[in-house]
Amino acid sequence: MVLLDGKFISEKIKEEIKIEVQNIKNRGGRTPHLAAVLVGNDGASLTYVGSKVRSCEKVGFESTLIHLDENISEDNLISEINKLNDNDQIDGYIVQLPLPKHINEEKILMMVNPKKDVDGFHPFNFGKMAQNMDSFIPATPQGIIELIDRYDIDTEGKNTVVIGRSNIVGRPISILMSNKSKPGNSTVTLVHSRTPDIPSFTKKADIIIVALGIPNFLKSDMIKQGSVVIDVGITRVADKTKNKGYRIVGDVDFESVKTKVSYITPVPGGVGPMTIAMLLKNTLKARINN
Ligand code: NAP
Repeated sequence: MVLLDGKFISEKIKEEIKIEVQNIKNRGGRTPHLAAVLVGNDGASLTYVGSKVRSCEKVGFESTLIHLDENISEDNLISEINKLNDNDQIDGYIVQLPLPKHINEEKILMMVNPKKDVDGFHPFNFGKMAQNMDSFIPATPQGIIELIDRYDIDTEGKNTVVIGRSNIVGRPISILMSNKSKPGNSTVTLVHSRTPDIPSFTKKADIIIVALGIPNFLKSDMIKQGSVVIDVGITRVADKTKNKGYRIVGDVDFESVKTKVSYITPVPGGVGPMTIAMLLKNTLKARINN
């Protein structure tokens, strides 16, 4: 069994980005600049945004955190978004989800200038990705593809099962794995909460990508010997033995599954760090495109 070490690979990618940023600066170019919009004080969102901002500093980017009150009106949030669209010192920005209930997320995402959409959530970028055209690809599925690529895992003609159909993970990764590309060229089945008998699909899968948010969902009796298992799940489970009072648990029952697989991602330290590295990569791309 090989552990797909997302932490190690993401550090390598960050080093590569850092060198490119230094080259831009040496040529007298402007430093890449990522902005993050955070509305409210959700604990997990604060943690995610904080680590994205810290990662920017590590690779030499400029970063700006726009922290807005939880009760901000939709119109005022739109005007903040428009300011970012008009600011030519900002190469890319993200709007941290989820947004408070009184704000229409879809409306906000549609306001993001696709050229600055480093999360790749705008339908313009999503559509281009689906047609295998150059675009901003959402960071998590892109991180999975990068991990598969760096470990040189063969996906061509393989039977891939994706569990979960969200717009940010399940659906895009199912498209990327089926694209005519390397990695890609897989035969993909996308299963979800309305799929009867999920084990009947996973037992035949060469590659399983799990993104649903249910701790330990995928058990060893649901997979075949030698499969590749990618765990996207991140759930905080109360744990008094930890300083933070919780631990992070994935969607895969790691201890039982690891004895049967050829490759597996740990949680934490698998897909999570790759996601941040891909956000940085997209920001660099936005800077270069500018
Ligand atoms: P989501 O939007 O809640 O989507 C979950 C998907 O799982 C839905 O398609 C849902 O089906 C499906 N599902 C739920 N219960 C199921 C069941 N019993 N059997 C089969 N399918 C089921 O979640 P998400 O945003 O994709 O995130 C999934 C997990 O990945 C979460 O733990 C999240 O925290 C984590 N995540 C991690 C990263 C990272 O960087 N590692 C990034 C993003 C998300 P329906 O569509 O039918 O409801």
